[in-house]
Amino acid sequence: MEPTAATNLAILPSVDEILKEPTGMRLCDELGREVVVRLVREIIGAFREELHDNISTKAGNRESIRNAIVERLALVAWRDQRSGVRRVINATGVIVHTNLGRAPLSQEAVKAMVAAAGYSSIEFDIQAGERGPRGQRAVSMLRRVTGAEDALIVNNCAAAAMLVLSVFASGREVLVSRGELVEIGGDFRIPDVLLRSGAILKEVGTTNRTHLRDYENAISDQTAMVLKVHPSNYRITGFTTVPSTSEIASLARKHEIVFYEDAGSGAIIGTAKMRDLGEPVIRDVIAQGADLVSFSCDKLLGGPQAGVVVGRAELVSRLRRDPMYRALRLDKVLTAALEATLLSYQNGTAADTIPVLRMLGENTDGIRRRSDALVSRLRHGSELKVILAESDSALGGGSAPNVPIKTVVIALRHSRLSEAEFAARLRLNDQPIIARIEGGQVLIDLRTVEPDEEAAIIEALNKLASPADAEDTAAA
Ligand SMILES: *Cc1c(COP(=O)(O)O)cnc(C)c1O
Repeated sequence: MEPTAATNLAILPSVDEILKEPTGMRLCDELGREVVVRLVREIIGAFREELHDNISTKAGNRESIRNAIVERLALVAWRDQRSGVRRVINATGVIVHTNLGRAPLSQEAVKAMVAAAGYSSIEFDIQAGERGPRGQRAVSMLRRVTGAEDALIVNNCAAAAMLVLSVFASGREVLVSRGELVEIGGDFRIPDVLLRSGAILKEVGTTNRTHLRDYENAISDQTAMVLKVHPSNYRITGFTTVPSTSEIASLARKHEIVFYEDAGSGAIIGTAKMRDLGEPVIRDVIAQGADLVSFSCDKLLGGPQAGVVVGRAELVSRLRRDPMYRALRLDKVLTAALEATLLSYQNGTAADTIPVLRMLGENTDGIRRRSDALVSRLRHGSELKVILAESDSALGGGSAPNVPIKTVVIALRHSRLSEAEFAARLRLNDQPIIARIEGGQVLIDLRTVEPDEEAAIIEALNKLASPADAEDTAAA
């Protein structure tokens, strides 16, 4: 008998049948029944259309179709689960990788987060038994490590900038050098932030050269503030000039206007190496007379996502009293992480305990040794061609764009996979491995890989090195 649309469609299972399969039951537990029912309906619907189209070619049998539907359900669910926030191995050599969560936290910060996850003394004075100031210890440590009179902690540096501008400059003019009207990371654009805060942007100077007199000539009774922005991911070189922070500070003081510097990346330690990165050290900016300075906590500082404003006590307390602060204040768990991170600076262990600083400080000899050891554990005579090569790591996070950080990379080629396919297989590993693609090769830079993550890289590479397994993962 010729199969008809009716006989063909009758072999489709019901939604209930699929939900009673072990995979269906497991996914109902994991993802919620409602979601799984919807997925199964969609998948059965897609099969129904395929059967319509293939009406006279293959009818298939009931069982094979049911298995195919279960398999597709598992795949869709697997993709959904993989789309969440998962731990990944950062083998790119970009230390503050914005897409991979910027700064990895120190062990101390992780412990502090876990401890603060329940009830915590975020706004409670344990000795007095009454309400206390929020995140008091982090504030005290920020004062100590930056030399500022007071500090305020919010969700990120963008929130800090928005708060400062709207409290001190709404409806009034803010002077900004034309060379500092920058875009940082796509959605933080200085002119847009000013506009949204209600401040009026008054551009001074030119793109490459801005003099102190340009600021001075622009000051009027409408002027609320001078804003200096660290250009972060961008450098103007050649015939350039900008006044120093201390020159702008004395000008602002003379005219009684607020001088606010958005420093971006919170460099706390003022070693020569740090200064070579071209990132302003917060203590210096305060010492040079800025009234307020803002910075991110998850860039060079190496802490959780947070933003800080430090500066003159009287100005910081006005920020603290503003209703907008209530909408921007930092969560308890992140405050605990910040506190633990700052403690590492205060007790002098930061260079060893804070991953960003440790990665930045690791020398090429050490990375070469680790890379050699890793390569020696790879399966030989396989599909992989491996060499060590000199390359550059990067600080990332929109910091120090022109400062190459020498490194050694493991450069890999696969005999049958293109570099893009090879990198994709590494991403699809159980513990996703994110590598760099360059010059037809996949590069693994151990600078950003923790030693205890190396075993997972070796296992993944060895799996992809043997012909049969490479095919297996292809199917997934
Ligand atoms: C990174 C950066 C910001 C934004 O900081 P977030 O903490 O990501 O909000 C703002 N200003 C400057 C100068 C920056 O470098």
